[in-house]
Amino acid sequence: MSFDNIIGQDIAIRSLKNIISQDQIRGSYLFLGPNGVGKRSVSIEFAKAINCELKDKDACDRCSSCKRIDSMNYPDVFELYPEGASRSIKIDRIREVIYQASLKPYEGRKRVLIINNAEMTTEEAQNALLKLLEEPPENHIFILTVSNISGLLETVISRCKILKFYPLSQIRIHEFLQKDRKFDEVEAILFSHMAMGSLGEAINFKKKGMLLQREEALNDFFLRKTAILRENVLSKGVSEDVEDSLYMLLYWYRDLLVAKFTQEQEQFLNIDKFEQILSYSSRFSTEKLQKDLLNIMDTIGYIRGNINPKISLFNLAVSLKNN
Ligand SMILES: [Zn+2]
Repeated sequence: MSFDNIIGQDIAIRSLKNIISQDQIRGSYLFLGPNGVGKRSVSIEFAKAINCELKDKDACDRCSSCKRIDSMNYPDVFELYPEGASRSIKIDRIREVIYQASLKPYEGRKRVLIINNAEMTTEEAQNALLKLLEEPPENHIFILTVSNISGLLETVISRCKILKFYPLSQIRIHEFLQKDRKFDEVEAILFSHMAMGSLGEAINFKKKGMLLQREEALNDFFLRKTAILRENVLSKGVSEDVEDSLYMLLYWYRDLLVAKFTQEQEQFLNIDKFEQILSYSSRFSTEKLQKDLLNIMDTIGYIRGNINPKISLFNLAVSLKNN
């Protein structure tokens, strides 16, 4: 898709284009920024631009190299991810990287080795990488993508050139979801707001069936079936779904509060439920809605911190019910 088709990240892309055009490609890069904002996509486009058979400084998307890199079927691009229950990258996987780095490019100009979420690499494995990052073999490029730099050793960080990646604007995510992913308007609005700048998250929301979760959340908490909530929580336990449901509830209450101040439809997130929101909002005081919003946010915090999750949920249901 070439650099031009990546949403946002103009600064990182400009530096990479400069690096390529001035022939100053160095060996070790650290792409730093939140999850789901395009770090891996940019890594892939970088690998394509370097190895493209037709174009000089960008990917053509048509040549054999570009196509095979896109489908990760190219011998000179290698990547790995955290794996296993611990979601980590262990020494044996890094040994594989070290082996890969000992090979000459098969057919490309440069071999690109991408370590995704490199902060999940164990300390032992990071130490094993140091020498390679310090002096990468000729025609080898390392890219570490990282969302939380505190997981990396100082010695690893100092050996890499850091390129920063930033959250995307809600509007750009919205446009992308509608035009490229054909999300409907409700999904595009809700998910682009909820994603907090992460396109990857926004796309995930659809995969996770968040609109259905919204219905469940409204049934459990808003339509006042406290007994059902208790049954659900006790039987299913508290899963990641519960956190998602609470976010849906948060945005619902956010809209109820917004309705206290405006009735312009474009100000609302749950636009498909606009009429209901106006009607429900009039039944509560502004203070009550503000208090409910804070309660939901606190509960999300408790669930995340695993602080008495079942009790927190039940307390939330009760407090939303009380006027
Ligand atoms: Zn190409």
